[in-house]
Amino acid sequence: MRPEKGIMKYTCWGAARQVTGSMHLLEFENGYKILMDCGLDYEKNDDPDLNLNFPFEPNEIDVVILSHAHIDHSGNIPNLVKQGFEGHIFCTEPTAYLLDKLWADSVNIQNLDRKKRNGMPKLYGFAEIKKAQDRIITLPFYKKFELSPEISVELYEAGHIIGAASIVLEIKDKKTTRIGFTGDLGNYGSKLIVDPKPMENLDYLICEATYGNRSHKVQISPLEELKSQVIQACVNKAGRLIIPAFSVGRTQAILFTLKQLFESGEVPSIRVFADSPLALASTNIHNKFRSYLNEEAKMSAAETGELFDFKELHLVQDESDAQDMELYHDSCIIVSSAGMLEGGRIQQHLQDHVSNPLCTVLIAGFCTPGTLGAKLLDGINPIRIKNQDRYVYAKVLQTDVFSAHPDKDGLLRYIESCKSDSNFKLFIVHGEESGMEAFSELVKDKLNIPVEVPRKGQTFSL
Ligand SMILES: [Zn+2]
Repeated sequence: MRPEKGIMKYTCWGAARQVTGSMHLLEFENGYKILMDCGLDYEKNDDPDLNLNFPFEPNEIDVVILSHAHIDHSGNIPNLVKQGFEGHIFCTEPTAYLLDKLWADSVNIQNLDRKKRNGMPKLYGFAEIKKAQDRIITLPFYKKFELSPEISVELYEAGHIIGAASIVLEIKDKKTTRIGFTGDLGNYGSKLIVDPKPMENLDYLICEATYGNRSHKVQISPLEELKSQVIQACVNKAGRLIIPAFSVGRTQAILFTLKQLFESGEVPSIRVFADSPLALASTNIHNKFRSYLNEEAKMSAAETGELFDFKELHLVQDESDAQDMELYHDSCIIVSSAGMLEGGRIQQHLQDHVSNPLCTVLIAGFCTPGTLGAKLLDGINPIRIKNQDRYVYAKVLQTDVFSAHPDKDGLLRYIESCKSDSNFKLFIVHGEESGMEAFSELVKDKLNIPVEVPRKGQTFSL
């Protein structure tokens, strides 16, 4: 079905009725093409060709604008370059630094996957990463940049991870049209990270709805929540507290909160191991780009000179650090990736300790169904970790306080602040299909605006 004539067309090529593979194409009447995000889709893991080819000609894309570094938003850019994209990639400076680490990590994961599953195609290597890096132009927040005489881009703070942006495109035709893409939004009141800033006066908004069907149960602050968990797991039970956490963002929020707890004397001194190479790199980037963090973080860094450095913290950087950690038998806290327990060093910690009744596993966030984290939370026992069954005697808990996405009330509040008074239309992307339908009904009901939940490849005339 051909879209009606408008000044541009929007096609949703990824994160359509699912969470990963974020990719949104805008095509203008004069042939100019903007791609917002170019992420890896890992929803259907059994299709080896997923992500290999693009549903458009990469060499016809004029620019890529990237919301943030997470691999489901950025991870297929080197492949786009490999297949002929020759334009610039716009993002913030912290995003550019994080991309270095996350793209390299993505190549390593692809190589491991290819070893496991013979015949898996290679998406890209370090040569394509280098080429992609050479095309990056960094933009500050809140400064309009002219892509062409008619089209400008402005980045807003999305508050999701350090440097994460929402994207506003302003198009001057007979009238001015403003299109916003949220990227991933953050939760209000997060540790370290600023609150999401709505893009005002929009005509169209492409909005994430990861938690569009959820309400955060949070009644207490991250500081109180972590204090109570540490006291129960490490003081009352004298055991170890294992916190699976994503390397970029959540690990730093947890370490920063622990630093505040120790400094205030609210919990006794307990050793903390941070065990994830990517998390350590990301921690350095948080230190380097402090000016992008929230006021509380900036003040703390100004007072103490360091964001994450506290005497209890032990960074596991090499084999000898890892041995020290294994031999440490007093109560301790281990923060390790990956967040949903799929891969990463966390699996070893679980394999070693999930059968220990003195151990507590605190899952800091939502786990997609089917992941090891979700199975653990569902009470599956015994549980299969790295091809071995383990009985679960550890206490398994979950907390929302470090969530990196707003819940449905936060999203409604955000959307309401973005809309123009006249012609406003909302596109909902980046969520689980059933939750997105429910959220779409909620938005129609509460805000009385037209809403679309695009299918992959669906085109709209704007
Ligand atoms: Zn993200």
